[in-house]
Amino acid sequence: MRLLLLGGTSEARELAALLVGAGVDVTTSLAGRVARPRLPVGKVRIGGFGGVPGLRAALADYDAVVDATHPFALGMTANAAAACTDLPLLRLERPGWEPDPAWHHADTHEEAAELAAGLGERPFVTVGRQELARLVPALGGRAVLARVVDVPGLELPSAWRLVTSRGPYRLDGELELMAGHRADVLVTKDSGGTYTWPKMEAAARLGAPVVVVRRPPGPRGVPTVHDVADAFDWVTGLGGSPREAPRENP
Ligand code: NAP
Repeated sequence: MRLLLLGGTSEARELAALLVGAGVDVTTSLAGRVARPRLPVGKVRIGGFGGVPGLRAALADYDAVVDATHPFALGMTANAAAACTDLPLLRLERPGWEPDPAWHHADTHEEAAELAAGLGERPFVTVGRQELARLVPALGGRAVLARVVDVPGLELPSAWRLVTSRGPYRLDGELELMAGHRADVLVTKDSGGTYTWPKMEAAARLGAPVVVVRRPPGPRGVPTVHDVADAFDWVTGLGGSPREAPRENP
């Protein structure tokens, strides 16, 4: 069983460790976006495939694919669904956060920025480096504190301050950061998971409203599981006859 694991998430690293331990030949694929990625156990390849045709060609070396990319990694997830016509594909997507009725929801980053502009003067923004540009039209004049893993390639408005760090985060650190900035609104996306949850708790404690960008819908027709143990079962269940069709997720 040669598995291609589309990664870049903590779930992908957990799954790689379990599967390698069970004797599965796992290659994790990383986009190569961050300067110092956390590497999983097993084989690793880094960089894009070259769209659907490139991915399709690469699949000749594998028996199955698990797409464990981030819930907002739309391009890779769409490409995997399009390329895996002849190969079992499973989507592993961590659950979104349980919505709080006090949160403000937006369908796009632009909408989130507009909502935040109406809610505060000193936003704390944690939507990722790639999406920052989408917030500039509405929040360019506000005293934004933007937290990213790596420095973005765009010139930020002069009123913005950038902080680079990588989770997991703790409540005390988040309280200190947000209170230190006098953040009066938090802008985030529904990444789910525990690594970045403490900022939500910090915002609640500080009385700062929260704007959450909703998740895009998952890939249509692709069996989907929400935790690593189920993905492990799916892969090991394919072991005897790697090219058989995947079972549907109930
Ligand atoms: P994306 O917009 O879905 O993907 C854009 C392109 O990047 C893809 O078409 C593909 O290039 C390449 N790519 C993405 N993920 C890849 C992977 N795992 N292996 C090889 N190539 C990959 O992706 P993104 O949102 O930039 O995310 C990039 C990576 O960061 C993903 O691995 C994701 O799990 C991780 N990540 C993303 C976020 C987020 O908020 N988006 C947060 C945390 C981690 P080709 O078309 O050339 O194959």
